[in-house]
Amino acid sequence: MNEKPPPRAHRDLAKAQGLLRLNKALGGGHEDMARIMVMSNKYLKDDPDLSSLTVGLSSNGDFYDITKNRVGLTSSNADIFAHEVGHAKDLHSKSNFYKNIVLKGSKKLNRALDWAALPTATVLAAGPIKEENKSLAFKSLIGLSALSAIPNLASEFIASREAVGKSKNKKETFFEMLPGGLSHLKTDLTPAAKFMAVDTIRKNKDLRSLVPFQLLGTPSTLPVDQRPS
Ligand SMILES: [Zn+2]
Repeated sequence: MNEKPPPRAHRDLAKAQGLLRLNKALGGGHEDMARIMVMSNKYLKDDPDLSSLTVGLSSNGDFYDITKNRVGLTSSNADIFAHEVGHAKDLHSKSNFYKNIVLKGSKKLNRALDWAALPTATVLAAGPIKEENKSLAFKSLIGLSALSAIPNLASEFIASREAVGKSKNKKETFFEMLPGGLSHLKTDLTPAAKFMAVDTIRKNKDLRSLVPFQLLGTPSTLPVDQRPS
């Protein structure tokens, strides 16, 4: 069985020998490795503390692990490398409160809201609550969901901005970062979108006909002619 090669210290990647070892693990070409070396040097110049960061092969997506201060890569793509090291640069000096409570907590909250959004929204919409309070509850849940997305989206934005800033070909790197950024945007804003969708449908006569409205309740403040018969 082939054993996974051990991760390299980031400081080694600014040198040819360390880079060759990573090259073996990631299977990249010379051009990729040259770009990784240039990016590495720029990061280390900016922030010498990044020398203790380790970089290795990942079989489970590209990531920066805050706890282990480690970057995992699935390929030798230098832009992705720069994005993940961008996370490290942004986060390694942040307080434990920010890393563990704000960032990790908001990610957990965002996932929990996503899981609970549709059942909660339909129960809330159909529940025997005054329209005024129902509307306020929807607004609060949409706000909380959007808020829970902010720390992660900000972190993604900062990491991509670092990667573009360190790149020689900024346009190319920007477009390389775009799909990942949009995918984070879509995922992180899904809970807010779900609450918003149910709230919009329950208030709109034409949309209500698309779904069983009993599930969504009917705002009692709607004009009589808009209420379902
Ligand atoms: Zn990222």
